[in-house]
Parts: sequence; C-alpha cells; structure tokens
Amino acid sequence: MFTYQAPPQLLAGRRILVTGAGRGIGAAAAETFAAHGAQVVLLGRHGAALQRTADAIAAAGHGQAQAVLLDLEHAHEADYQALAGQLGTHLDGVLHNASLLGPRVELEHITPAEFARVMQVNVNATFALTAALLPLLRRAPNDASLVFTSSSVGRKGRAQWGAYAVSKFATEGLMQTLADELAGTRLRANSVNPGGTRTDMRAQAYPHEDPQRVPTPTDIMPVYLYLMGPDSAAVNGQALNAQ
Ligand code: NAP
Repeated sequence: MFTYQAPPQLLAGRRILVTGAGRGIGAAAAETFAAHGAQVVLLGRHGAALQRTADAIAAAGHGQAQAVLLDLEHAHEADYQALAGQLGTHLDGVLHNASLLGPRVELEHITPAEFARVMQVNVNATFALTAALLPLLRRAPNDASLVFTSSSVGRKGRAQWGAYAVSKFATEGLMQTLADELAGTRLRANSVNPGGTRTDMRAQAYPHEDPQRVPTPTDIMPVYLYLMGPDSAAVNGQALNAQ
C-alpha cells in the first residue's frame, strides 16, 4: 500500500471536485478530502447517491458539500461551461474518478456502440471536463492538482478488458500530455491506479471473488491525499499506484 501520513488539516481551505462521488472510490475520496479540511464538490448523474455522500460528510461534521448533477455520457460543451460557471471563483483540485467498465469480452465481440460509450464516459468526458475546469484551477491561490484514474490494464493491455483497457491507456496519454503542457506552472497532473478495490465495479469484473479479500476504498486513500495536498506540488506527469 502507498504510505503517506496526512496531517489532519492537509486540505484546509482547498476546494476539490470529485467525479463519480456517489459511490465506490469517488464517495470515499470525497469523504476523505472533506475529513482533511477540503470543501468538496460532488459530481455525478444520480442526485440521491450524491446526497448520501453529502449527508455522510455533514454527519461526520466535515461541512456542506456542493452537489452538481452531470451525466458524463450525454454532457455537451454547453453543460461543461455551465458547470464551470456554477463552481465559483476557483478550484484547487479535480479527481477524475467516474468510469464505466463496459463488456469484459474479446475486442472482436464488442460492438462499436459499446466501445464508443466507454470511450465517451472514460476519455471524452474527462477531456472536456478538464478543458472546462482549467481556468478555475489556474485561479487557485496556491498549487493545484488534477488526478486521473487509471488501472493496471491502462499500463499493460490484457485480454478481455476491451474498451476499458483502451480508455485507461488514453487516460494516461491525456494526463502525460497535459502534465507536459503544465510543466513550470503551479498546476500539475498525475494518475493513480487504485488496484483491486472493493466496489461495485470490482464485483462486476470479478463476480466470483470474495470481496472481503480486497482492500476497501478507504484503505487506498493515502495516495489520493498525497496527490491532492501541497506535499506533491512538485510531482507532475507521474503514474502512481495506490497499492
Ligand atoms: P464504481 O463503484 O462502479 O463507481 C463508478 C462511478 O462512476 C460511480 O459513481 C458512477 O456513478 C460513475 N459514473 C459512471 N458513469 C457515469 C456517467 N455517465 N456520468 C457520471 N458518473 C458516472 O467504480 P469504482 O470501483 O469506485 O471505480 C472508480 C475508479 O477507479 C474508476 O475510474 C475505475 O476505472 C477505477 N478503478 C477501480 C478499480 C477497482 O478495483 N475498483 C481498479 C482499477 C481502477 P453512478 O452511481 O451514477 O453509476
């Protein structure tokens, strides 16, 4: 496991947006960032799920999270611009976490529509959201951080991981290209491979696995805290592993 001892108020005063914040790793990240002092913005396509995360944050005494509804499969340029307009003066961090697994079959058995859907959510939407939020990130008073979510199959291709694997390679490419463009600025971009983590997506990918044998989203939070906080201000263009 990535080890990092985060100070309790590591993210105090930081405003951080998390996509896919209604469940799984995104919900845990939002709650963890809030517990370390951040004001979090929860992005997702189901209001009830975002409300559950916001309620958990409030119940823990970690403030009021802002929820913004956006379906990354169907969002258009105007939706991203409207979202950026809702977010106030600046952002200090963005965690691109939302993703679709898609069919776990050989590439030849994936339809173009299924392939396009995974690429839309995992890559095109990540690009469009990043582009819309860069002006807000540039206005952060100190360092600011973009974290992209990869996978082990986004670093080495593997049979039957289909469009998902291709989308995670593209995510790494997006991160690396952006990181090179951001070099020398106060803004940085890095990726995290969470590794096998106890979520709905993991259960969908490995239906016969005993979930108790897999780390929880809370267990893998140290690398996310490290990348969102000032201790990683000089880290740019790196592909990190949560485990
Ligand atoms: P998860 O439990 O399936 O959660 C996926 C999240 O993405 C949900 O919040 C979901 O929202 C959101 N999402 C999907 N499609 C969306 C759309 N069209 N618009 C907005 N949000 C959408 O997955 P997870 O395991 O927490 O995965 C989080 C990240 O880690 C993903 O990028 C995944 O690829 C990566 N990852 C996970 C593992 C693992 O073992 N769990 C391993 C490697 C990488 P809804 O609730 O609305 O569906």
